[in-house]
Amino acid sequence: MPGYDLLIKGGHVIDAANNVDGVMDVAVAGRVVAAVEPDIPQSEARRVVDASGLYVTPGLVDIHAHATGFSGAMFPEEMCFPYGVTTMVDCGGSGWRTFDQFNNDVIMKTQVRVFALLNIVGQGMEGDVEQNIDDMDAEATAAKIRQRSDILVGVKVAHYQGRGWESVDRGVEAARLSDSFCLVDQNAKTTRPFDEMLKRLRPGDGVTHCFGYGKPMIGNDGMVKPHYIEARARGVKFDVGHGNNSFSFSMAVPAIEQGFPPDTISTDMHRMSLHTSRATMTEVMSKFLAIGMPMAEVVARSTWEPAKWINHTELGTLTPGAPADITVLEFQDRPSGLSDSGPTGYRIMKAEGRLINQLTIKDGTVRFDYDGLSKDDWAETPTTDLDIP
Ligand SMILES: [Zn+2]
Repeated sequence: MPGYDLLIKGGHVIDAANNVDGVMDVAVAGRVVAAVEPDIPQSEARRVVDASGLYVTPGLVDIHAHATGFSGAMFPEEMCFPYGVTTMVDCGGSGWRTFDQFNNDVIMKTQVRVFALLNIVGQGMEGDVEQNIDDMDAEATAAKIRQRSDILVGVKVAHYQGRGWESVDRGVEAARLSDSFCLVDQNAKTTRPFDEMLKRLRPGDGVTHCFGYGKPMIGNDGMVKPHYIEARARGVKFDVGHGNNSFSFSMAVPAIEQGFPPDTISTDMHRMSLHTSRATMTEVMSKFLAIGMPMAEVVARSTWEPAKWINHTELGTLTPGAPADITVLEFQDRPSGLSDSGPTGYRIMKAEGRLINQLTIKDGTVRFDYDGLSKDDWAETPTTDLDIP
C-alpha cells in the first residue's frame, strides 16, 4: 500500500527555511508534509502530480489582505486559494469591539488559514470611526490580543488624519503590552513628518504600503531617504501592501536597485485592487520578478519571511511535519504588462512573463487546481449506476 497520499514530483522546490532551491519531490501524508527528497518513487503515493517545469513552494502567506471592516473586503476563499495563498492576515479590519463578530462571520466559516491584526480603533476600520481617538484604547486592544492569541498576531494603525502621531503611539503601546508588533499605514503631514513616525517604531514593528506613491520612500534626488535606511538598521520592517493606491514602480525600482527590498510581499487585497491594479499575490510577486528580484527571494518574502514576522514558523516552510500547505506556480512565458496602482495612473512594467498559480493545497487538501494537475482524465469517468431510461 502506498504510504503517501500525494506526491508532487519533479518541481523546482523553493523552501527558504531549509535552504532548498532546486528540483525535489514533495510527499504529503494526511495533513502534513511527509518528505522532501530528490527522488521519491511514484509507487509510494496514491496520487502523483507532475510538477516538472513548475515551482513548488510553501503555501503563500499574505500578511496584508482584507476580509472584514470595509466595503471592499472579500471572503478569504475568493481572494486567496485561486492565487496560491493558504494563509492570510486580515490587516486591521476589526478592532477589540468587533473581532468576535468577524471571527463568527468569516474566520470560522473559511478553509483559508486566517490570522488578524487588531485595529487600534475599537470599532475597526469602517469609515469615520478610524478618526475617533477616544476609541484607541491600547489596554483593551492588548487584552483582546492576549485573549485570542490563536488568531490575533499584532496591531494595525491606519488612516488617522489628526495632526500628530497619537494613533501610532497607542498602537505601539498595544503591541508592547501584548508582546506582538504594530503595522502602520499612515501618511505624513507637515505637522507630523515620516521620519518622526519611523523613530516611534520598535524593532519588529513595521510600515505597510512601503512603495506607495503617497508615502514616497524615494527623495527628489532619486535615493532612498536616510530615515528609511536608519529604521531598517534598527529592525523596523517594510511590507508591500500593494492595493489600489499603494504600489508605484517609481518607488520600488530605485529602492530595490539601491538594495532596499521589501521584507514581505503582500497584496492589500480587496475588491477595488483585485482587477484595476492586479493586486493578486501571484501578480504582485511577478512585479518583483520583473524588477529583477531572484525567484528564491520573491518566494521567501511571500512565505517564510511573513511566517516569521507573525511568529508562526510552522508555516511558510515545507519542513517535514509542517502543515501540508503547498503552492505550485508556473512562470507563464509570454510578453506581459504588469500594472502598478492608482495614483501613478496605473502605469505598467513590460515583462517577459508572469507567475500564475497552478495548484493550492491547504492542510493536505487540494483547494484550487487550475489545469487539473491532481485530477484524472475525463475518459476514466465510471459508468453511471443511475438506471434512468
Ligand atoms: Zn490594507
